[in-house]
Amino acid sequence: MRTQIADAARVLHGRRIAFLTGAGISTESGIPAYRGEGSTPRRAPMTVQDFLASDTARRRYWVGGHLGWRSFGSAEPNAGHRAIAALERAGVTGGVVTQNVDGLHLRAGSSRVVELHGTMRGVTCLRCGQAYDRGAIAEQIDARNPWITVPENVVLRPDGDVAPESTDGFVLPTCTVCEGMLKPDVVFFGEFVPSDRFRVVEALIASCDALLVAGSSLVVNSGIRVIERARRRGLPLVIVNLEPTRADVWADATVAGRTGDVLPALQELLA
Ligand code: NAD
Repeated sequence: MRTQIADAARVLHGRRIAFLTGAGISTESGIPAYRGEGSTPRRAPMTVQDFLASDTARRRYWVGGHLGWRSFGSAEPNAGHRAIAALERAGVTGGVVTQNVDGLHLRAGSSRVVELHGTMRGVTCLRCGQAYDRGAIAEQIDARNPWITVPENVVLRPDGDVAPESTDGFVLPTCTVCEGMLKPDVVFFGEFVPSDRFRVVEALIASCDALLVAGSSLVVNSGIRVIERARRRGLPLVIVNLEPTRADVWADATVAGRTGDVLPALQELLA
């Protein structure tokens, strides 16, 4: 692995780096990924169409998300997130595009972060647009459903979800302004990344001259779109992931290792 890290450092040396990160960078913080090491047994993710179509689906979503929220919210950034933040302070990083919704890059001190798939921190009313902090909605859920308790031996699923024992009798949270339907500020499966957000990604890529992917299988198409933009501009590509990814064929260097080990090592070589 040391040779792979040295090869990656040679590709990146003297360049302004854009990062594209995925669920793999947060597994060492205790948040499971969908695929590969640190993943939990697969369950079909809820699509936006399911969420919008039925009260039953929304109940399932909000109970699971509510039970997972406190464990998800208390996860701490790890050495990988911190190395990226340190590279920004050293002037080596142009910014981070993350597919994660956990907010750990911001908490680690990175300031130029595009949350491609949104964030678990916010909730918005689909009728009047009122914005809420997730903590306020958690309080509303607790008040409306005082019987809800986190099951013992809770197993956190990707995206901060917990499989609920039951959703019977669950009262959904609603907008305090207009009683409208609430949706967390995350891009669901079946939804598109907002085009203005993608334009920010394009500007970030245009301001950099290398792309480093960390902890993503790149199975999700929006990640591949970021790589396509970088390739069109001729940026060299480095991939750090425990397993092969969909974009390895285009990479100038690949490192098969944990982001919590590899990124601090790269930081030392580059900062
Ligand atoms: P993914 O689950 O498809 O792939 C994760 C990859 O990371 C796997 O190939 C795995 O082998 C690798 N990996 C796991 N631990 C690693 C480590 N310590 N070091 C290096 N590699 C490691 O994740 P994805 O590509 O991000 O796509 C999943 C989608 O699900 C994303 O769109 C994201 O929005 C969402 N998601 C987010 C979170 C989060 O916010 N933390 C968690 C799960 C899923």
